[in-house]
Amino acid sequence: MNMIVCAKQVLDPEAPPSSFKIDPSTNKVVPPPGVAPVISPFDENAVEAALRVKDAQGGKITVITLGTGLVRDVVKKPLSMGADELVLLEDAAFDEGDSWSTAYALAMAIKKIGEYDLIFCGRQAADWDAGQVGAGIAEFLGIPSVTLARKVEISDGKARVERVIADGYEVLEVELPALITVSNELGEPRYAALKGIMAAAKKQPIIWAPEDIGADRSQVGAAGRHMNLAKLFQPVKEGKCQIIEGENVEEAAINLALKLREAKII
Ligand SMILES: Cc1cc2nc3c(=O)[nH]c(=O)nc-3n(C[C@H](O)[C@H](O)[C@H](O)COP(=O)(O)OP(=O)(O)OC[C@H]3O[C@@H](n4cnc5c(N)ncnc54)[C@H](O)[C@@H]3O)c2cc1C
Repeated sequence: MNMIVCAKQVLDPEAPPSSFKIDPSTNKVVPPPGVAPVISPFDENAVEAALRVKDAQGGKITVITLGTGLVRDVVKKPLSMGADELVLLEDAAFDEGDSWSTAYALAMAIKKIGEYDLIFCGRQAADWDAGQVGAGIAEFLGIPSVTLARKVEISDGKARVERVIADGYEVLEVELPALITVSNELGEPRYAALKGIMAAAKKQPIIWAPEDIGADRSQVGAAGRHMNLAKLFQPVKEGKCQIIEGENVEEAAINLALKLREAKII
């Protein structure tokens, strides 16, 4: 079973909200000083899903991360959990992409890897939360995709997927090769054991630029964007408090009702 996991490095979503800043002149998030990035949590669930398949029937797991400024200790985490190879799409040309150009670049890298039975993505990246890249990759590769998996089992060339829905889950079967996006309902990703951490430290990632994956530079990163970001901003929350007076509780309730009617709320 040849498996590929797409895992993104993101700003730590657990960082204190006060450390989150946007530079309005560039429409970009300013990385909070002293806060290390992490692998997007849903992507750790995707790594765990692949490891469970590997535990059950063996196989090879290749992780792909696209980005710039990738911190080696961070992007190697899937290796320390038990993945076999790490490919980094690390080139300035991949920067500032949108869901389309990110999915295109990842799909081209997967085509270059060649043999794959299963591709796992997180249900959405914890920074921009678009939830589009997984389905985009499947579309570029012309393979079926199933989103929001909470359990994946393989038998007879098919994946049996329990897919999260609003009030429970549904069970789907999909022919391989297929792409599956994984949700946190899959359960906790495993901790990296010391042996895995030491093996990951020794392993060198494979680094590819657009030319290495046969990608057209005009289609990746900012050059390949199909969407423009008009404005990135933090909403300002304003709260006003008005004390409703009254001689007694009944009168205060009447005054409240009158205020609400005045404000056209009732
Ligand atoms: C004008 C503009 C400028 C932008 N500039 C930047 C920027 O400078 N830096 C930036 O980080 N974002 C930038 N973005 C956001 C970027 O578009 C999103 O990262 C992209 O749309 C994917 O959405 P998402 O990250 O929410 O991924 P989702 O669609 O939510 O991701 C789903 C899954 O796809 C996989 N995946 C997604 N991205 C990657 C990746 N990079 N590597 C490996 N696997 C991945 C993961 O498995 C992930 O769980 C910009 C967007 C716009 C429109």
